[in-house]
Amino acid sequence: MKRIYGIIGDPVAHSLSPVMHNAAFEKLGLDALYLAFRVSKGELKDAIRGAKSLGIAGLNVTIPLKEKALFFVNAEEEAKKIGAINTIDFGSGTPVGYNTDGIGSMQALKEVVDEIKGKKVLILGAGGAARAISFYLDAEGAKVTIANRTKERAAQLTSILHNAKSIGLGAELTKQLKDMDILINATSVGMHPNEDATLVRADLMHPDLVVFDIVYNPMETKLLKEAKKAGVKKVVDGVKMLVYQGAASFKIWTKKEPPIAEMEKAVRDVLNSIPKRKVL
Ligand code: NAP
Repeated sequence: MKRIYGIIGDPVAHSLSPVMHNAAFEKLGLDALYLAFRVSKGELKDAIRGAKSLGIAGLNVTIPLKEKALFFVNAEEEAKKIGAINTIDFGSGTPVGYNTDGIGSMQALKEVVDEIKGKKVLILGAGGAARAISFYLDAEGAKVTIANRTKERAAQLTSILHNAKSIGLGAELTKQLKDMDILINATSVGMHPNEDATLVRADLMHPDLVVFDIVYNPMETKLLKEAKKAGVKKVVDGVKMLVYQGAASFKIWTKKEPPIAEMEKAVRDVLNSIPKRKVL
């Protein structure tokens, strides 16, 4: 029988996970289908129970459900520490929760950075994605600085890390950036339809800075354009993270090696085909 997977979130219609996972199933010849299900916070518990009863094989979890979903699954220790899940596996009968955002971001970053240990990393944002990313960077021995609009949220995040400090987005950010090895945007700033927005401009960047924007729509965000202007040699876009976090979920569910190249192509094809002004 066909195995059913999906993503739950609200909104979720814009998600690129269905096209990415269905491309992977097709490439590996698996009799499986991946769908998007709109689920509100109030319906989350019933949705997870219902998915289990219906024999759904696995789910991804997206905004705004990642934190709340933790309470309705057996979460892995790592996901508990991060405080959010983005993957549920129903393979054992009991829903097991994982967070693959952190591992996805690290794989994306490691395409251009050989050694994370000792690197000075500035992360913009202190939301769910920033939590997962900083947790992994901290564990690998990076020196993490969290810069967030809401300073208290940044301070709360650094309190669960070993080697991290928090700052605001003003003058402190300008001062700190000169000395950084890696800059990661883990806020939603620059995401469609606000494509002209960026928290950091070219004059604050140096050419040896690695710039990673986890926003993937548009693929080349304003931040990445500014990086190009500053002569930055190494940039990473959000599609890389999207693909690697999805690939990690795929492997948890199917125990098979995910076809990364096909997954990435499927996502980039869709993003390249979106008319400039269409609202996603
Ligand atoms: P979230 O938990 O809602 O956090 C949003 C973060 O953005 C917070 O730190 C928030 O600051 C900050 N922010 C929002 N608007 C801002 C503004 N106008 N100025 C300054 N800061 C602002 O969201 P999330 O789940 O972490 O996701 C963040 C972004 O990452 C989204 O665009 C999402 O699509 C993307 N994402 C990409 C991937 C991928 O695989 N590529 C994976 C996960 C997420 P405050 O704390 O002050 O509100």
